[in-house]
Parts: sequence; C-alpha cells; structure tokens
Amino acid sequence: MYRNTWMQVNLDAIEDNVRRIREICGKKFIAVLKADAYGCGDAMVKEAVLEAGADMIAVSSLDEAMILRNEGYDGELLILGPVNACDTGKLIRIHAACAGYSAEWADEVVRQGCEGLKVHIAYDTGMNRIGFRSVAPMKEALHKLVKAGACVEGIFTHFCCSDAKDHVFTDRQFAMFEAAVKELDYPFKWIHCDNSDATIFFKDDLSNACRVGITLYGISPYTGELQKAISLFSEVSMVKCVKAGETIGYGATYTAEQDEIIATLPIGYADGFVRANQGRKVYIDGQMAEVVGRICMDQCMVRLEKPVPVGTKAEIFGSHIALEDMAAELNTISYEVICLLTPRVTRTYIKNGKVMAERNARLMLSRIE
Ligand SMILES: *Cc1c(COP(=O)(O)O)cnc(C)c1O
Repeated sequence: MYRNTWMQVNLDAIEDNVRRIREICGKKFIAVLKADAYGCGDAMVKEAVLEAGADMIAVSSLDEAMILRNEGYDGELLILGPVNACDTGKLIRIHAACAGYSAEWADEVVRQGCEGLKVHIAYDTGMNRIGFRSVAPMKEALHKLVKAGACVEGIFTHFCCSDAKDHVFTDRQFAMFEAAVKELDYPFKWIHCDNSDATIFFKDDLSNACRVGITLYGISPYTGELQKAISLFSEVSMVKCVKAGETIGYGATYTAEQDEIIATLPIGYADGFVRANQGRKVYIDGQMAEVVGRICMDQCMVRLEKPVPVGTKAEIFGSHIALEDMAAELNTISYEVICLLTPRVTRTYIKNGKVMAERNARLMLSRIE
C-alpha cells in the first residue's frame, strides 16, 4: 500500500449475506452494484455475489454496465437509471437490459430501431423519479416496443419509504404496482419491487425477484442476522506532545487546553473523510480519539489519551464504530458515507479470512505500479 489508508471489503461477509437474504426472501436475486458497488469496487463484489448465487446484476447507467462487461461479466445485466434513446444500439451490443421509463423514451427507441433490446418497464408508484405514471400509456408503450422487436422481459417499481416506521406508503405503492401488473396481463419474466429493506420486511406473491444493494454489506435496520462487510482504516503517521495553548491545523480552530498528545493520520477530505468529521471520534488501540482541528485535504489530527507507536491502526468505522452511527452523527445515511470514499482510497479485499487483493483504482488506470 502506498498510503496507509484503506477501505476493507470483506467478500466472505458479502457472500454469507447474499445466501442469508436469499433464504429470507426465496426469490431471484438482483444484486444492485451501482456506483462501483457503493464504492466497494464492482469488479470484486460481483465475484462474491455471483459465487453466492445472484441471478442478475443491476447498475445505474450505461457506462457502469459497459465497465462490468469490460471486466468480463457476461450474465444478466440491468440498468436501473435512464439511458438515452440514442444509445439503444450500444445497449443491444452489450446485451444489457434497460429501464423503459416514459412514452417519449419508448417512441424514440422504437424510431431508432430496437430489435433485441431488453427492457424492464419502470412504473412510478410514488417515488416520482423515473417511470410511467399511469397504466394506459405504459400499456401502449409496452406493445409498441414488443411490436418493434424489443424483448420486454420485466416490470418494476421502487419504494420510497421502506425505511419508515410504518409501512403505509409501501403498502399503497405495492397495491398500485400489483394492480398495474394484473392489468397489463403480460408474461413478464422479471417482476420486482423490493429494495434491501422491503426484501426483509415485505412479503408478497406478485414479485419474483428482489433488488438488493445496501444489505449486501450487512447494513439493515430490519435484521441483525447479516455480517458487516465494510470498514475504513488509517494508520498513525506521527505522534507528538503539544503544549497547552498550542493550536492544531488550518484556521487554528482547536487550542490544546493542557499538554496533549496529538497523532496525525493520512486521511482527509479528498479521501471522502469530510470536514464535518471534525469533533467526531476514531478508534485507536482501545482509545476513542477525537478529531481535533480542521480536517485537511490529505491528513487530519486526533487527540490521544495515551501515546501509541507510529504505524498503529486507526479505525474510522468498523467493528468499534458502526458505519450507521457515523452516518447518523454526520446527519446522513450509510450509503452516502461509503459512496463518498474516493478512488484514491485503496480497497483491500478479504476472502477466506485473508487479504486476497488490494486495489488502487487511480494507480491501476495510470498503469505504473
Ligand atoms: C439503488 C436502488 C436499489 C437498491 O437499494 P438498496 O436500498 O441499497 O437496497 C434498488 N432499486 C433501485 C431502482 C435503486 O435505484
């Protein structure tokens, strides 16, 4: 490793989680690996989910689908977000299914020629992001696409309140989805509505696949049975004693009240360790060390109770500090915390209990390792 800051992704945990979720839901399994598998690295995570029996991989955009194909994935692939109608040819060439999300999109795709294009119809039941907003135009588009040679193999909707305490909104969305699927009366191969949370708490006989992202990594408010798969570490690069009255970092925003032990970590906001972490704690060898002073682009400083040797590991989140707690303290969600970890942070992968690979995305692109 070239800089001692790394995101650790436990592929064993991901495999176990996929197997457990498949047992819980008993349907086909669509692993949502958008945004580079939530920052974990889609090339490696895809191996784990496929090994554990995932039936399809979903991403958010055409380039993400092309990256998976370039990485050698040739199985079922679905793009959940909008793809420009003018890219229909590319979709067909890489055998990726896409979301059919509006009448205008369908008309344009039919005009471009869509023989062999795989489509999952997106029905908007309340998210108001993409998708058809009523059944009649959806039915019309479906039949136009089919007539033009497209393969409409699926239909889906997306729940927007599956993290709510009561499931009234989800129930209402599902009822709309069910009514639409019945009215369309079309032999869809894939019918899917459940995201991670709904996969755990929502049971239905209509859908035949779940669409799982965040719980791959063991993050779920609905079950404690999954294993945490992601941690973020850095390492102490320098330790010093500062005198009472000395200040730390840019803007001198922190003043030592007494003689204090200050350690430096090579992690900063350019790694995705955002400045809002100032004042939060990291875990270093049994101590909870407060981040003092402003977080720099590449480094930050923490206050220790007892000195530790240079090279001591620092956990930003992991087994001592839950990612969910860190997210809550930052007024955000786990998804955002992990997606913001930049490609500069080395990803290390655990498989069979051992580090099996290390990936530094930018260094790999530059081809001078
Ligand atoms: C991101 C996304 C998912 C996965 O959501 P999780 O909460 O991470 O399981 C599923 N479906 C769609 C349409 C998405 O955009």
